[in-house]
Amino acid sequence: MAQPTIAIIGAGQAGFQVAASLRDLHYNARVVIVGDEPHAPYQRPPLSKGYLLGEVDDSQVTLRPAAFYAQHQIELIIGKRAVAIDRTRRKVGLEDDSVIEYDHLVLATGARNRPLPVPGADLQNVFFLRTLDEANRLRERMSDAKTAVVIGAGFIGLEFAASAAKTGMEVTVLDVADRPMARALSKTMSAVFAREHEKAGVNLVFNTQVMRLLGENGRVTGVETVDGRVMPADLVVIGIGVIPNVELAATCDLPVENGIVVDRFLQTSDPHISAIGDVAAHENPYAHGTRVRLESVQNAADQARCVAHRIAGQPAAYSALPWFWSNQGNLKLQMTGLPTSGCEEVLRGDPNGTVCSVFLFRDDKLVCVETLNRPADHMLGRRLLTNRVVLTPQQAGDLNCDLKALLPKPAAAAAPGS
Ligand SMILES: Cc1cc2nc3c(=O)[nH]c(=O)nc-3n(C[C@H](O)[C@H](O)[C@H](O)COP(=O)(O)OP(=O)(O)OC[C@H]3O[C@@H](n4cnc5c(N)ncnc54)[C@H](O)[C@@H]3O)c2cc1C
Repeated sequence: MAQPTIAIIGAGQAGFQVAASLRDLHYNARVVIVGDEPHAPYQRPPLSKGYLLGEVDDSQVTLRPAAFYAQHQIELIIGKRAVAIDRTRRKVGLEDDSVIEYDHLVLATGARNRPLPVPGADLQNVFFLRTLDEANRLRERMSDAKTAVVIGAGFIGLEFAASAAKTGMEVTVLDVADRPMARALSKTMSAVFAREHEKAGVNLVFNTQVMRLLGENGRVTGVETVDGRVMPADLVVIGIGVIPNVELAATCDLPVENGIVVDRFLQTSDPHISAIGDVAAHENPYAHGTRVRLESVQNAADQARCVAHRIAGQPAAYSALPWFWSNQGNLKLQMTGLPTSGCEEVLRGDPNGTVCSVFLFRDDKLVCVETLNRPADHMLGRRLLTNRVVLTPQQAGDLNCDLKALLPKPAAAAAPGS
């Protein structure tokens, strides 16, 4: 019998991991990854951190060396875009008119930068930071820029700001919100980050919007806000979020709603097509019954493993606990669980320093733990959440309370011969 073909669209974190996991599971199939970027799969997290500072090089960003794909018989087609899916005949068409027939198709198309719809956004030295090519262009410009304006105080904007400030650049970060990482982080932790970024020399400007980018001879020279302020800039970084790459799915009539809609098994409405990673709108058990789209390495890798197991005949609903990290200069933020609006915020530790945690409760139930430079609390938070340990906000805030003691005791090892 002919081998089945598993086609994976998107050569990012999620696409790579499905292929690697299928091989780990010794699944006997033709495995093809198609990616439109001109690079073998690489990691994005270093791009806004060590890579910009030259602390991490290309070989450390690549997920696996070229030999890996040959050794594992994974066909890697890079620099080509998939443009159409024929669900009836189970075929994917690529932009060069080549066609891949599939038995199962995995959509791991990720997300793209949300554009900034203001005049001047197309000037030279205005950058986004999602791909390796974008990071390379930005890094080159950073070598002689003296002032930078970052539009968007989200994770990527602030990671860049911290890196740029380290090089001695004068950095201003603007946001329409009233605090950093407002969509994802508690007010308590946000306040700590605002203070520490300012201490590191980053100028934070909130509750404002960009009216236009100013330029001379085609190059950006500054940013003007709606309230009339002008901030000079040798370079501008736009980090105002992403748009999921759903078009391929939408054009073949798969349901799409802020991402490609998948069920608990990460399957689309077509049993021969799955969607994973940044592009997948999935029902997450930690999302309080709602459908979410998560943008994290953990989510991309764990969803890929989940789908690989299903393809290999070991189906299970996706149930991994979400977690995430963001390194902003010397500030190592880790988050686990998923917060919702209106959570009670309980601080554990000293908010005036750079080592503390915030435990978030909804209806007296722990739903999220944010830690700053406190990896042990992060790991503990993960165990508390996966074990659904009942703890009170008072216990969480009390440094004398040993939270580890609340974890279920490991089952006693069976006595030999019993
Ligand atoms: C600068 C940066 C820093 C980050 N830092 C962190 C961090 O510190 N911690 C963390 O947990 N997460 C971080 N993330 C998020 C994390 O990298 C993403 O969640 C993860 O890469 C998602 O993987 P993915 O495979 O779903 O999507 P992607 O990595 O975006 O890969 C999707 C790929 O599919 C390609 N593609 C799209 N459409 C097509 C098509 N039609 N045909 C062929 N190819 C196509 C895209 O070009 C892309 O290469 C960061 C992201 C960025 C950009």
